[in-house]
Order: sequence, then C-alpha cells, then structure tokens
Amino acid sequence: MPETRYKKDEDFNEWYNEIVELADLCDKRYPIKGMNVWRPYGWKLMSYVDALIRREMEFTRHQEVYFPLLIPESLFNKEAEHIEGFGGEVYWITHAGHTELEERWLLRPTSETAMYPIFSLWIRSHADLPLKVFQIVNTFRYETKQTRAFIRVREIHFFEAHTCHSDFEDAERQIKEDKEMASRFFYELSLPFLFHKRPEWDKFAGAFYTISIDVLMPSLKTLQLGSIHQYRDNFSKPYEIKYEAEDGTHRYCHQTTYGMSERILGAIIGIHGDNRGLIIPPSVAPIQVVIVPIIFKGKEEQVLEFSKKVFEDLKQREIRVHLDDRDITPGSKYYDWELKGVPLRIEIGPRDIEENQVILVPRDTGEKKPVKIDSIPMKIEEEFQGLSKRLYDNALNLLQYNINKVSTIEEAKNKSGIIMLPWCGVDNCALEIEEILDKSTLGEPVEEKPSVENMVCPICGKPATTWLRYAKTY
Ligand SMILES: [Zn+2]
Repeated sequence: MPETRYKKDEDFNEWYNEIVELADLCDKRYPIKGMNVWRPYGWKLMSYVDALIRREMEFTRHQEVYFPLLIPESLFNKEAEHIEGFGGEVYWITHAGHTELEERWLLRPTSETAMYPIFSLWIRSHADLPLKVFQIVNTFRYETKQTRAFIRVREIHFFEAHTCHSDFEDAERQIKEDKEMASRFFYELSLPFLFHKRPEWDKFAGAFYTISIDVLMPSLKTLQLGSIHQYRDNFSKPYEIKYEAEDGTHRYCHQTTYGMSERILGAIIGIHGDNRGLIIPPSVAPIQVVIVPIIFKGKEEQVLEFSKKVFEDLKQREIRVHLDDRDITPGSKYYDWELKGVPLRIEIGPRDIEENQVILVPRDTGEKKPVKIDSIPMKIEEEFQGLSKRLYDNALNLLQYNINKVSTIEEAKNKSGIIMLPWCGVDNCALEIEEILDKSTLGEPVEEKPSVENMVCPICGKPATTWLRYAKTY
C-alpha cells in the first residue's frame, strides 16, 4: 500500500500537514493566514463531532442559542481582567461603509460579553435558575504564533456552554457535570486525556479557576482540547446578573463555562492516524463503511448487484455506508479510503458471492475477515467496538508511558513528554521550573492526586503541597 511522503514517527509535523491536505479536510490556500477553508469531508467530520456535543448538551439539559458575532466595545470593557486577557487578540470593526462608527465593534473572541448583558435581562428570580445554554459558532482571535490547521487558527469553530446558578455550590455541581460530560465525549472519540487545574497566572481571563482538558500528541507535546471555567460572581457583578432569592433578597449569580474547538479534529488526526492516512473513530466517521466491489470480467453485473444489496441493507440500518463503484482499480479505492480514515472496508468478489460472504477489513489492522452475509450487521458492530478500543488503548499507552513522575530537576531534565514535579505552591518556583525545563505548566492533577508526603519543592526546598505537571504545548 502507498504511504505518506512524511512518516508519522520521523517527522510528525510534516506528516500532519500532509495528511490534512491529502485527506481533503481543509484547504489552506485561502489568502488570510490561519483562516482555512473547510472542505466537504472535513466539515462533515466536524459536523459529526458537533452532533456528539449536541447529544451531550441535550442529555444535560442545555439549550442551544445563537448570539450575534459583533460585540460593542462598551460591553466588552466591563470586566477588567477579561479585556486585559483578550485585548491583544481582538479584531475591531471601525467603519460601516464610508462612515466611522460612533462606537467600535469587535468580532467575538468568545461570547461572555455578548451574552451576559442579555442574561441580566433573562434572569429575574430563582425560578429562572439554573440557566444552561450553549452555541457552536465561529470566534476570532488574532494569533501571532505560527498557525496550524485545526490546532492554531484565527477563525475558530467554537463550542461554548454558559451557565448561571444561584450559588457557588450549584456552579460547582455544574463543573462536576462538565467533567463527566468530557469523560463520556472523549471516550467516544477514543481520546484519553488529563484534567489540569491551570495555574493562577495562566487561567482564563476573568475566571476564578480553570480546568483544562489536555491530550498528548505523538510529538510528545500536549494539546489543550477544552476548558471548564468557574467564574464565581466575577462576571455577574459587572454585568449585573442578579436574581431574587426565595427570601426576597437580590443576589448575584455564579457562572461557569465550558469551551471546545476544532482542535478535537487535530487530536483525532494526530493521535489516531498512521502512514496510510487518517483513522477516524466510527462514532464520528462521515463514512463508517465503504463497499468495494472486486470486478472480474464477465462477473461485473453479478458483483455490482450483490454489492448494492449489501449497501441497501446497511443503509437501512442507519450505518453511514458508501458504495464505491468508480471505474478504477480496487487498489486505488483502498488507497483513497484508507487515506480518509474510513473505519471499515467491505470487499466483495465473485468467489465471496459463491460462498455467500463478504470480506471485512478494519482500517487499523488491515486484517481480512470473511463474514457470512447474515451476520454482517452484527460483525460490523463488533468491528467498530474493537477498532475504537484499539485506538483508545494505543492512545492511553502513549499517554501513560510519557507521564514522568520525578522529584528533582536533574531527573526531569532527562525526560520527555509530561513531567510531574512536587511544588510548594509559590508561583515563582513553578515559573523557574518552566524556564529550566523549557516547558509550560499544565497545572495540578485534578482526578487522581498522588500524595506529596515527605516531598519537597525542587527549587526552594520547602515542603510540597501538590504536584504540578509540565510539558511542551501546542
Ligand atoms: Zn518552591
């Protein structure tokens, strides 16, 4: 089978760039850097990822909304830290036609400042709470670093959930729900991840605290796929989001947000793909099964007819199936669909018809499995589960193998991937470690917190209060 020009384990970055274009996900020739054109196959893939998100939103009783793209400067300026954090990344609109606007508008970098003035009108009493909404829209951030398809872009395909609660505890319950949602969602994509409580100096602008969702790419850099923020009442005060409590007093809401982007695609491409192309988890594959008829002279009609029957049957079972009846060699078809990461291929030749069977070929192993015609749907389901599990296990191995828990700087220097070191809790000590290791702080582990008993901070020697993880990041 033909392979990509660049090899995944030799030059990951070039391999990634090659795959993105070869598999028809996006077109990077649009004349604004970091604003790529979604090609049909890439957009379809994204829409299936979005469908999984919408399913989770439905399940957790969030309602979908759509807020305008433009935000007046006066609204944006209400939360001081937020402006501070985003100021340098914002695109401004100053003119309409030939007229200079009285007030500048900005393209949303995220939608807090668009939504919250309206939330203050929607929320009147405790009966209006919790308010749970989300939208999937484009946001804009002026990136100055090198852009990379799906990973660092200037027009972002963005999912943002925003919630308002009566008090801090209820907002904390929302964060717990968000974490459970993330666990279900990323498991469906066969993407094991780590939660990190981001350090104070690197949390979201305006947040009380931020939890990041990080995956490890095969380049051993981490990629942040999402973040969950506890705002407390940091935004509800400037935006006056208040409600009347049962006792008649007026109180400020506590708020949370949960955000993700097309970086999820970046992770699917980078973590699951191989030197023959993408491998897309069946849960989001635009085409889950491709049927390739193996045509022999004199048997054309028989093979095509049989293939069509299998195709129609699978379509009725709501499997996303495609029959490739193009007039090219089966080998060229295999190549195309492997490149596009279709999880399962069905080959049908004259001999299979005689045997009343088809050949199933999972994308990752390439193993050919004869299956009797009656058991195709059941076997497809099994193969989907098997493939998803193998993708997950491989990614989990990569992740677990590259988390290095060490206690001194010397040990840390010899390790790649994710480094875990004890920490005293003083910002400057962690910042010094970042400098020495040339890595960024991911944050404190959130789920499992190993004991720091008898451990000391490798910089100041004082007793450690927690562990911190560091890595090179995208
Ligand atoms: Zn220290």
